Amino acid sequence: MPFSSLGLTEPLQRAASDWNYLEVTPVQAAVIPAILEGRDVRAAAQTGSGKTAAFALPLLQRLSSGPRERGRLVRALILVPTRELAAQIGAAIRHFGRYLPAPLKTLVVYGGVSINPQMMALGGGADVIVATPGRLLDLIGHNAVSLAAVSTLVLDEADRLFALGFAEELGRILALLPARRQSLLFSATFPPAVQAFAEGLLHDPLRIEIAAGPATTPAILQRAIEIDAPRRTQLLRHLIETNPWPRVLVFVATKYATEHVAEKLRRAGLAATALHGELSQGARTQALADFKAAKARVLVATDVAARGLDIADLPVVVNYDLPRSPVDYVHRIGRTGRAGASGAAVSFISAETDAHFRLIEKRQGLRLDREQVAGFEPVEIAPPLAPGGGGVKGRRKSKKDKLREAAAGIKAVEPVPPLNPAPPANAFAWHRRLPRGRP
Ligand code: ADP
Ligand code: MG
Repeated sequence: MPFSSLGLTEPLQRAASDWNYLEVTPVQAAVIPAILEGRDVRAAAQTGSGKTAAFALPLLQRLSSGPRERGRLVRALILVPTRELAAQIGAAIRHFGRYLPAPLKTLVVYGGVSINPQMMALGGGADVIVATPGRLLDLIGHNAVSLAAVSTLVLDEADRLFALGFAEELGRILALLPARRQSLLFSATFPPAVQAFAEGLLHDPLRIEIAAGPATTPAILQRAIEIDAPRRTQLLRHLIETNPWPRVLVFVATKYATEHVAEKLRRAGLAATALHGELSQGARTQALADFKAAKARVLVATDVAARGLDIADLPVVVNYDLPRSPVDYVHRIGRTGRAGASGAAVSFISAETDAHFRLIEKRQGLRLDREQVAGFEPVEIAPPLAPGGGGVKGRRKSKKDKLREAAAGIKAVEPVPPLNPAPPANAFAWHRRLPRGRP
């Protein structure tokens, strides 16, 4: 379906076509007409499916036809969980609005940087604010901004904003918004635990669901490689050195691990950089910019990079440490395989994390073949399952079996072909990849 069929004005269509948007994606086709009509929307659509434009384009169209605000007032508020995502969405809004006859004032506000320039910029209000919750509340506390006239609220990565850690801040912000407003909720995942909160915000919404999990995420080849935990950095290095990946995003569990793994890779001569929430904002911005500009080939990050970031030409995501939850898994691997391009997600599985990964697989309705890489075959043995079996059945060949085979000189290791780089994004093809290795 072409963009011209959605009722968007010419300046917005032109900006979209500047970014080579030719056809609308399914989520865009579903929600843009409803948002233009002023309806509330709750949209669950897979990572990389074009949710940003799905809310940004109709939002800009509505704002460009209404009266401009004055004073400290704001007309549209977009809340997001990370600073990097705020910056990315702000840039998209500015791009999409570039040909509008009367320019709209868009501000991006987040913490970790000086508040004064943000307070100055807010003088005279704004048409659109893209914000992280904490800094927005600070600005409200300083009387720099009022939410009393917000006509549209957007929550991107909405489930994250409802979850612990943000829920309290979100509640304080919501209390300051007019009751009569349009509310738009977007995410790849809406776990049942947050659905009640989401529903509480919405009036007669359009609810659409394009996909539920990575089993239906288009074109992400998921792989699970068995490796002893202490050898993960060596394996990572090996994979990076033997695959023609221009960029590799590696997720680890802790801030310390980002620095530690990046440092080890650097010592091996690879351009690697770390990204986590305790770096200065300047360092965070620099790390991501270096990665996008290919000055750093490897970005080693915590889950701060898991949500919403759109990094072009990212053929592979590596779970060096497994994510805590199946939801995090969906978002992490969704950094690749975006906008119809294909990508690979590689998870390192060690004896200790095997049961946890099976839980993630189960929640996603997946069962991945376990692979081993020649020279990196694991020797550690998985801890015995808890009495009662922990609900894990249908085990593959056990580690003990493999050890026995190895001791008997049986070649238990199949050579793994090199992980191929993503083929170039061609047509904007939305297709499903069946989970591999389902028994
Ligand atoms: P999501 O928020 O659903 O994860 P994004 O909004 O970040 O996805 O979009 C993913 C990528 O797809 C971005 O690079 C975006 O520019 C691109 N994209 C979005 N809509 C289209 C479209 N209609 N045609 C081509 N590319 C698109
Ligand atoms: Mg997004």
